[in-house]
Amino acid sequence: MAAQQVSGEQFRVVIAGGGLAALEAALALHDLAGERAAITLVAPNPQFRYRPQLMREPFTAAATTAYSMAEIAACAGVHLLRDSFKWVDPVDRVLHTRDGAKLSYDALLLALGARSHARFRGVLTLDENRIAEQLTPLVEAIDHGTVQRVAFVVPSLPIWSLSAYELALMTVNHAAARGREVAVLLITPEDSPLAALGVSASAELGQLFTEAGITTVTSANCQIREPGRIDLYPLRSSILVDQIIALPELYAPSLPGVPTSAERGFVTVDAHGAVHGLDRVYAAGDITDTPVKHGGLAAEQANVAAQAIAALAGAPVKPRALRPALHVMLQGAARPLFIRSQMLGEHGTDLELSSDPLWEPQRLQSEYLGPLLVELDAARRAGEGG
Ligand SMILES: Cc1cc2nc3c(=O)[nH]c(=O)nc-3n(C[C@H](O)[C@H](O)[C@H](O)COP(=O)(O)OP(=O)(O)OC[C@H]3O[C@@H](n4cnc5c(N)ncnc54)[C@H](O)[C@@H]3O)c2cc1C
Repeated sequence: MAAQQVSGEQFRVVIAGGGLAALEAALALHDLAGERAAITLVAPNPQFRYRPQLMREPFTAAATTAYSMAEIAACAGVHLLRDSFKWVDPVDRVLHTRDGAKLSYDALLLALGARSHARFRGVLTLDENRIAEQLTPLVEAIDHGTVQRVAFVVPSLPIWSLSAYELALMTVNHAAARGREVAVLLITPEDSPLAALGVSASAELGQLFTEAGITTVTSANCQIREPGRIDLYPLRSSILVDQIIALPELYAPSLPGVPTSAERGFVTVDAHGAVHGLDRVYAAGDITDTPVKHGGLAAEQANVAAQAIAALAGAPVKPRALRPALHVMLQGAARPLFIRSQMLGEHGTDLELSSDPLWEPQRLQSEYLGPLLVELDAARRAGEGG
């Protein structure tokens, strides 16, 4: 491994993770702290993919854009180390990597995301690395008229449940366009459809799903013990379908050296992203114990943590506290729907809901990474001559 050149005066920041939160934080920190900070990004993935596009792959055959991590790291002025977080020694302030590197830090940001696990044995559980491969047989079965009832199941929270609603919408629309009758059910533990967006958004969306022909079964605690049968508790009723597609459950990654919450091991942070109980360790994104796992929220958390770290590094920055907001673009209907809400506690409030774009449609809602991806897309198109 090539050692990074760090001058004695530079503030050493290590960012662990290679997703939205890590990249947003790296770009923000570079902008705010400039040469004051020497940033090392520890990430195993060679590419960054924009996840919201993944769900469309089986229905549109459009591949999700992948961006080179090396290119983004160069734009962020950070040293990219293709390796993984293994454990942290918070007393000596050293991050130990899987390949045996020891990285001393003045501030550490953990942005490792969440781990996915299938809840039900023998049930098709979505794997973001294989969504097109997993769902193409469903699309073909609809085309051939060999499937009549499909259920999408959200096994537990927290998870980005919007994906299940988008898939349900795409399924009913695909079936309608082929002249096929397919009953689509969405079974979720949420008290109402997309409850995290707030009461009025949830009511409007519930109406939209009903009009689209989707049956939502809310507050559901379910078990699946045999193919095609979903048992609901405590009502003890069963739903029979031809095909079940479940979202995974989310857990925190392994984090030796970091205090974690008892439930699912997520990390608790304060309003500036500082990890409770540790000095100079911050966390952002799906690794934290937020009630919603959401890209825009991850980016906002990354920004407030970057500000706090930049101030520690001596940059003239007044760190602001997190004001969590949700910017949601619901795809799958004839036109996307834009929803903006401010989060208060577990739910959203101050709602704006519109079928006219409330922001640039394809753009990731983040201050730094979103605009950079737009630039990289434009450069790619120019390179392809189109
Ligand atoms: C299929 C899908 C669709 C989604 N659609 C939307 C949407 O439409 N809108 C929206 O707002 N949100 C959406 N989300 C949620 C959103 O993608 C996440 O909230 C967001 O990606 C969280 O960012 P993150 O950086 O915290 O985690 P991640 O994006 O999961 O990134 C974690 C990174 O950490 C790396 N990593 C893991 N372990 C280690 C380790 N030990 N050491 C170093 N690095 C490690 C991983 O390789 C990865 O690069 C979707 C999620 C999925 C799965």
